[in-house]
Amino acid sequence: MATCRFCGDGGIFARVDGYGLCEKCSPAIVPRIQELSASAAQHVKAASKAKKINARIDHLRQAMSACAELAPYEGKNIKALLFEPTKMAAELRAQRSAAVESFVHERWHAARDKARDAATDGGRLKGYADAIESITAIADAAEDVKPIEAAIAEMRAERDKLRFLLISKRIAKAEAKGQTKKAIDLLIDALIELRHDATPDAEQLDLIERVNAKIRELGGTPPA
Ligand SMILES: [Zn+2]
Repeated sequence: MATCRFCGDGGIFARVDGYGLCEKCSPAIVPRIQELSASAAQHVKAASKAKKINARIDHLRQAMSACAELAPYEGKNIKALLFEPTKMAAELRAQRSAAVESFVHERWHAARDKARDAATDGGRLKGYADAIESITAIADAAEDVKPIEAAIAEMRAERDKLRFLLISKRIAKAEAKGQTKKAIDLLIDALIELRHDATPDAEQLDLIERVNAKIRELGGTPPA
C-alpha cells in the first residue's frame, strides 16, 4: 500500500512515483519544487556576487520569497525537495541583517572621516547628510527598519553636535577679532540650531541658557 506524501491519498490500488507522490500531485508539484529551488539557489548566488547593497538585499528578498513558497512542501519527505526552506529563509534573513548592518557602519565611518577631514564646515557636515540619505534609501528593502532608524537618530545627533561645535568656533573667532555684532548673530544662529536639532530642548536647557547668557554678555538680546 502506498500513500502520497503530499495529499495523503492512498490505498491498495494507489501508486506513487520515485518522489513519493501520486499521479495527481506529482506532475504539478515536482516541477514547481524544482523551479522554486532553482530560483532560490540562483538568487542566493547573485546576492553573494552583488556589489551594490540594494541589489544584494533584493536578491536575498527574492530567495526568501522562493523559500516561503516552498514551505508547504517541507517536512513531507518529498524527494524533489533537497533542502529545508524555512531554515534557509532564516539564514537568508540573518544574511540580510548583516549586510544592512555593515552598510550602515561603512557609511557612518565615511561620514565621520569627512567630519574630521573635509576642508570646509559645509563639507564636514555633508558627510552625515550623505550617509543618512543613502541609509534611508535602503530602509524599505531592508524591511527591519528599527536598527536603521536607531543609527539615523544617532547620526543626526552627531551631526547636530558637530554643527554646534563649528558655530562655536566661528563665534570665538569673531569675538577674538572684536566683531561683536557678528558674534551675536552667530550666537542667535546657534540658538536656532539648538532649538531645531534632533536633541530634545529639555536635554540641552543648560546649553541654551549659556548661549542666551553669552548674547546678553555681548550686549545683545536673546530672541524670544
Ligand atoms: Zn497526491
